[in-house]
Amino acid sequence: MKAILSQPSLLKSQSYIGGEWVDAKSGKTFAVLNPSNGEHIIDVADLGADDTTFAVEAAEKAQKEWQGRTAKERATLLRRWNQLILDNQDDLATLMTLEQGKPFTEAKGEVAYGASFIDWFADEARRLNGDVIPTFAKDKRVLTIKQPIGVVAAITPWNFPIAMITRKAGPALAAGCAIVIKPSDETPLCALALAELAHQAGIPAGILNVVVGKDAKAIGGVLTGNPTVRKLSFTGSTPVGKLLLSQCAQTVKRTSMELGGNAPFIVFDDADLDAAVEGAIASKYRNAGQTCVCANRLLIQEGVYDAFAEKLAKRVATFKTGDGFSDGVSIGPLINNAAISKVEQLVGDAVAKGAKALIGGNKSTAGERFFEPTILTGVTEDMDIFSNEIFGPVAPLFKFKTEEEAVAMANNTPFGLASYFYSQNIARIWRVSEALEYGMVGINEGIISSEVAPFGGVKESGSGREGSQYGIDEYVEIKYMCMGGL
Ligand code: ADP
Repeated sequence: MKAILSQPSLLKSQSYIGGEWVDAKSGKTFAVLNPSNGEHIIDVADLGADDTTFAVEAAEKAQKEWQGRTAKERATLLRRWNQLILDNQDDLATLMTLEQGKPFTEAKGEVAYGASFIDWFADEARRLNGDVIPTFAKDKRVLTIKQPIGVVAAITPWNFPIAMITRKAGPALAAGCAIVIKPSDETPLCALALAELAHQAGIPAGILNVVVGKDAKAIGGVLTGNPTVRKLSFTGSTPVGKLLLSQCAQTVKRTSMELGGNAPFIVFDDADLDAAVEGAIASKYRNAGQTCVCANRLLIQEGVYDAFAEKLAKRVATFKTGDGFSDGVSIGPLINNAAISKVEQLVGDAVAKGAKALIGGNKSTAGERFFEPTILTGVTEDMDIFSNEIFGPVAPLFKFKTEEEAVAMANNTPFGLASYFYSQNIARIWRVSEALEYGMVGINEGIISSEVAPFGGVKESGSGREGSQYGIDEYVEIKYMCMGGL
């Protein structure tokens, strides 16, 4: 395996704590497998609760010195890290395709996207200004400063093994925090490679720690229970997010939660249909449908329903499904067998209740964990697929009559992360944008994520924003200083 990396030292099997590569105290390891073919990639150290406590202590030891550095010093190190990530884009993408399955070109895109957060927050480090507030009394002055929150924990998922880490580590380190990262045990190799590059960039020992382990409950128990950890930033499923929120309540930690979505993608009669088809493809089929902002419900107005379905099917029919390293592949494997079963179940339920597979509808012959890119027509609100996050390459097409009905359908969910709609009518664009109960709205656009924009959800999709000028606020406390006796 090492042979295919130009920098073989990026393939790590140990965790990274206090600037050292460490085994689990228990001596345990577990296997990392390639979802495309089930092949064994490498065994990695399987850390547990004790190791995690050790990482929190290492972070605490290092954090004050880091906080005391100038913003410019921290920014310089972050820029170096960003550059090393970009310099090793191919190696990181190789690790990603191997352990996560996404097509290699998509993996390279994620590496660049992931790095952009470090670059962005390197700049933001120097703009953490406080205020001087007009006073409430003649002999007093009212000031604020922003200080790092301290030791931060990050628990991240497998669908973006690099970007979900940099979105948290970038602002945390920029603000002067130290971080302990628990990546998904499905994709530890990207996280460990990022740690190696942080090490090479000169990020001081203890400031960035990566704890890899299969026992998420034990590791999460320490990260949410240890009073030294002052903030948890989590990206993952809503049930786990709720559990972690309740655990964090015991020590009143700050939290950012980026949880599940159920994105509506609305196409009105007055839309540019070709643009809507392209947007739907970009939003739905990226990462084989395994993103929390993927279009989950395509709501199509009755006048253009058949035409839209036909155009979309024509494009989807050209997709190639297969191993992420094969030329021309746009749909890779799903992450594991459970993901395949879930998609099969949702499609089966819809078809049993009357939906039709216009294209696809079954497991693919490409391998055990591959599902055919699918379009379902005649889908209705009573089917399970309306209310469940699919996380697979399946586009269910719902029909609606009026704008009011579309907005009601779109909002008929406890989730509120991303939403999309296509219309050429400016009044409708304002009306619908304001009516959608979502943290993000793509208007005539299927790809909305960027380091410059605030990413996050409302309702049960979470709290807090990542990226943008607001992202760093999640990692600082505002201290009010009142100067009296003047
Ligand atoms: P996904 O469906 O994306 O795997 P999860 O919420 O299950 O979503 O996982 C997201 C992250 O949360 C992963 O790193 C996973 O290991 C971790 N995780 C899962 N269960 C727990 C738990 N009980 N405590 C702490 N972390 C957990």
